[in-house]
Amino acid sequence: MAARVLNGNAIRDEIYSELAGEISALSAEGIRPGLAAVLVGDNPASHLYVNSKIAACGKLGLASFLVTPPSSITTDELLVIIRELNHRDDVDGILVQMPLPKQLDTKRIIAAVDPAKDVDGLHPTNLGRLVEGRPTLVACTPAGVMEIFRRSGIALEGTNAVVLGRSDIVGKPMALLLMHANATVTICHSKTRDLPGVARRADIVVAALGRAAMITPEYVRPGAVVIDVGQNVVTTQAEVERIFANFPEKMETFRKKGSVLVGDVHPDVAGVAGALTPVPGGVGPLTIAMLMSNTVKAARLRRGSRDRVETAARP
Ligand code: NAP
Repeated sequence: MAARVLNGNAIRDEIYSELAGEISALSAEGIRPGLAAVLVGDNPASHLYVNSKIAACGKLGLASFLVTPPSSITTDELLVIIRELNHRDDVDGILVQMPLPKQLDTKRIIAAVDPAKDVDGLHPTNLGRLVEGRPTLVACTPAGVMEIFRRSGIALEGTNAVVLGRSDIVGKPMALLLMHANATVTICHSKTRDLPGVARRADIVVAALGRAAMITPEYVRPGAVVIDVGQNVVTTQAEVERIFANFPEKMETFRKKGSVLVGDVHPDVAGVAGALTPVPGGVGPLTIAMLMSNTVKAARLRRGSRDRVETAARP
């Protein structure tokens, strides 16, 4: 039986239409939420991601500011930029696109962002609040995955959830959110023994490994919900044949473009899982939607007069 497809584009559109109402309420108070994106150097993938984020701001009517220091910038110079953005009243959200060049102290940069403007949810203050289960700005990708569960009617309470990957930006906050939703959570990583066996016990699998199509059907219990966070660009014929032997349209895309986007989950998992997010069109659109949502939330909490007290108390 083919898995139910969890359509991230449709969920994103739902979130955008709700945000439009909040944005016009803020606009009635003379507030236009603003996102500043700091894009260091010339990593092509980072340029692509930041362009999509800026485009989403434009679509929703949010202000956006793009700061593009050269890849040679020092930590101290970047800290000056962050502090300036912290002080600007028209900037509600600050996004520092990762990864940063090697010479930069990423942890110091993240810690320098005003927690009230930390729309990526990476600041230690916001991570600490997440650990405690208090309202906060939550990392966009895991927050987006929670929206997929909620809006697709997937109940989490009492389920066994396995999170594959323990990064600060996806795996750890994902595991915390699932735990707060009363799932029983197992976090796996590169030192986990018998990964397929552990994953097969799960009702819910979230794959965030950065390994193209690694999660094959042997990792998945029949009927499990599988969320594919991975975004990997595959460029070799052998790899494409391994993954897409049963998918002629993907082989055709590869022949035309010389590359193809693939998640961490093998497409054959669709024959075993009960529900599955596609790549593209699954988690990706939600990451940007939650960035927009966090920016609006940050503007409302910092500058809005109406709802401020109620919203601050809401998870
Ligand atoms: P990351 O920082 O590289 O972390 C990868 C995690 O996977 C690590 O915890 C690593 O374990 C674990 N891992 C790697 N290979 C493994 C293996 N063979 N067996 C078991 N565990 C393994 O990656 P990330 O930033 O979390 O991103 C993960 C994926 O999600 C990437 O494909 C990325 O492009 C994608 N992503 C997508 C979105 C989106 O919007 N859709 C957003 C963010 C990230 P160790 O800790 O032991 O090294």
